[in-house]
Amino acid sequence: MAKRDIHIDIASIHDGVIIPLWKQGEALYRQGAVGEVSSFAKGDYQAEVNEDGSTYHVSLTIYEGELTSHACDCLDHKRYPGLCRHNVALLLKLNEDSSDDGFEGDEEPSLYF
Ligand SMILES: [Zn+2]
Repeated sequence: MAKRDIHIDIASIHDGVIIPLWKQGEALYRQGAVGEVSSFAKGDYQAEVNEDGSTYHVSLTIYEGELTSHACDCLDHKRYPGLCRHNVALLLKLNEDSSDDGFEGDEEPSLYF
């Protein structure tokens, strides 16, 4: 897989996300729910996330390691101001792609501290 030139300060983003939500996003990511990631502009990433037969269109903008905007067409994202689990799932996918040692999904990711 091509290495992406992205640097995400995932620890600080993790701090801003409630634990159950992060776990849900992580579960989706591990299930392989996140589809092919596309990027049309530097720092802009889009992917489809499949959950329970529905497909959500998720996008994230990352600028200098910070998540500057996020979008998803699920209800939770409309209802609450923060990240939804699909955003988290895509974030984990991007983090995987940006690391050299390719997290394979069976071991704990190194996002925890
Ligand atoms: Zn969502």
